[in-house]
Amino acid sequence: MHVQGMAIFPFIFVKYRGAKQDVVLINHEKIHLRQQLEMLILPFYICYIGNYLWNLILYKKHYEAYSNICFEREAYEYERDLDYLKKRKIWAFRHFF
Ligand SMILES: [Zn+2]
Repeated sequence: MHVQGMAIFPFIFVKYRGAKQDVVLINHEKIHLRQQLEMLILPFYICYIGNYLWNLILYKKHYEAYSNICFEREAYEYERDLDYLKKRKIWAFRHFF
């Protein structure tokens, strides 16, 4: 699993041509945009990095630290559910901490 995209509100950046047609990738990044919006943007990045660094102490490996960030866990869990954002409750990522 490689990082193919990145969401920096209000934009989604993708790494390769054709990625815009990758509905799962785009849905994953849209989940991040929602997380960012509901955390008023800047606190999201602080929490994201903080969660990553904390995980790095716990797991001592980049990939484990990254994939266990609560925001990533929510996005990976629901990226294939294209209706997820319609039914998602605010701050749903807290269930993944
Ligand atoms: Zn992600």
